[in-house]
Amino acid sequence: MEMTNTAARRSTGEAQLLPLPSIYSLTLDELKEWLVAHGEKPFRATQIYEWLYGKRVTDFAEMTNLPKRLREQLASAFSITTLKTIVKQTSKDGTIKFLFELHDGYSIETVLMRHNYGNSVCVTTQVGCRIGCTFCASTLGGLKRHLEAGEIVAQVVQVQKALDETEERVSSIVVMGIGEPFDNYDALIKFLRIVNHSKGLNIGARHITVSTSGIIPKIYQFADEGMQINFAISLHAPTTELRTKLMPINKAYPLPKLMEAVRYYIEKTGRRVTFEYGLFGGVNDQLEHAEQLAELLKGLKCHVNLIPVNYVPERNYVRTPRNQIFAFERALKKHGINVTIRREHGHDIDAACGQLRAKERKEETR
Ligand code: SAH
Repeated sequence: MEMTNTAARRSTGEAQLLPLPSIYSLTLDELKEWLVAHGEKPFRATQIYEWLYGKRVTDFAEMTNLPKRLREQLASAFSITTLKTIVKQTSKDGTIKFLFELHDGYSIETVLMRHNYGNSVCVTTQVGCRIGCTFCASTLGGLKRHLEAGEIVAQVVQVQKALDETEERVSSIVVMGIGEPFDNYDALIKFLRIVNHSKGLNIGARHITVSTSGIIPKIYQFADEGMQINFAISLHAPTTELRTKLMPINKAYPLPKLMEAVRYYIEKTGRRVTFEYGLFGGVNDQLEHAEQLAELLKGLKCHVNLIPVNYVPERNYVRTPRNQIFAFERALKKHGINVTIRREHGHDIDAACGQLRAKERKEETR
């Protein structure tokens, strides 16, 4: 099997120089604590945040309003970005897909999508995934490792830097890339606090969406965080039997318990949840499924996002014909359910979850 240098290095266990921890992993409060512990004034943290997220410099030497000694101290303790762009593909519809290499040679995907309401970035939270959904490319090959908070933050900064060239701004974030965000919970929460902070990237909580396959204990924890983040659940089936066939996580966290957790979330936060429902031809896309789904969601403060299946060569699912997608939508509407059909982005550039990484980095996804 042919391997890239980094993959070869990893598998032979050859000693690698570990990079310094990324400063992007630090919340503003943690940075203040670090400064105080190093004999500095806490207000320097805000200045550093301004350089990192406002001016987006990538070298401590450029932080010219900091004393030289502090700049050197920072440079000996932290790195800034650890992501290297290895592929950048632009689609006809303006979608840009990035493949980034991490310091240890693994690669991750990040996607910039253009909407009429702004620019949205889809970030990755793990290298691979261990949830095992039967339709998903990201889980082929399992989980390699969690991302650090700073590695998630860096994806947004890198995309913002690309947008700086045309004086545009990242206006929203969806945590819907590779990985299960609730399986890397602490890094996720840190990431959310850093990008949301007014001195950080200042992306409003209501412009950030987190999606989970349904790790129930984390749904309760997330409800209690007191953040105004949009929340989505990958539902994909209206009954527990069918959901188990599509998503093995349903064995550990079955649908009735999941719905209980969702009710708690809605009650606690007062916020509406989104249910993602992938339409897999002949599997979960019949009118009887729409009826069952309407029954399941009756009276819930929610919204359903229908996702036409993305074809994954390793998987057998086929697309639902368009007229049937519309019929499914109509059936839900008839019951008063809020429903939309997901617009597709970057169809010509493998923009669906895990596809680019799977293609470019075969050895990682086997
Ligand atoms: N792990 C999280 C984040 C991924 S979000 C989660 O499961 O929610 C990406 C969304 O795309 C999820 O709803 C996921 O179930 C869905 N998805 C994955 N593979 C797909 C495919 N081949 N076709 C359509 N949707 C898919």
